[in-house]
Amino acid sequence: MDSSSTDKAELIAFAQSRGGRLLSAEFGGRASLHRWRCALDHEFEASPGLLIDGGYWCPECFPSPVEDRGWDWARQVEVDPLLASFYRKG
Ligand SMILES: [Zn+2]
Repeated sequence: MDSSSTDKAELIAFAQSRGGRLLSAEFGGRASLHRWRCALDHEFEASPGLLIDGGYWCPECFPSPVEDRGWDWARQVEVDPLLASFYRKG
């Protein structure tokens, strides 16, 4: 019965790869909502499956066509190691 701790460690590592943190104390499964905090201190809820398999992260940092808001790339790559790995300056 060691798989749940392995899964939680995976979530913690994933959150760190986005420059954020996993706030939920318990791992409730990939499809259940967990609480997270992004590098810019926004708290949000999302399932691990959506974030890891779907490529989503903080909804406040994500661009929103509804709110006419785009990516703040320069700020994001400073705080999000995963994005930074895709973003090359110059
Ligand atoms: Zn955010």
